[in-house]
Amino acid sequence: MPIYEYECRHCGYRFEYLVLAKSPAAACPSCHKKNLKQLISLFQASSETTRKANFNSARKKAVAVQKDKAHEEHKELHDHFDH
Ligand SMILES: [Zn+2]
Repeated sequence: MPIYEYECRHCGYRFEYLVLAKSPAAACPSCHKKNLKQLISLFQASSETTRKANFNSARKKAVAVQKDKAHEEHKELHDHFDH
């Protein structure tokens, strides 16, 4: 189950998308356009030891983005300032 990272060419919003066999084509959570640029896959960028952790984290994030984008953005804002 690969996770792809996309950048929306329409509004510049970046998000990760878990691609399942039955998943619809990825669309921007922000503007709902499908004009996306695919970035480096998390699987390719991760080592074997961190792969699972990154996958779980990214999967939660992707689901959260799809469910509630505003909440996720708020959380990311906190992440930046907390570290
Ligand atoms: Zn967009």
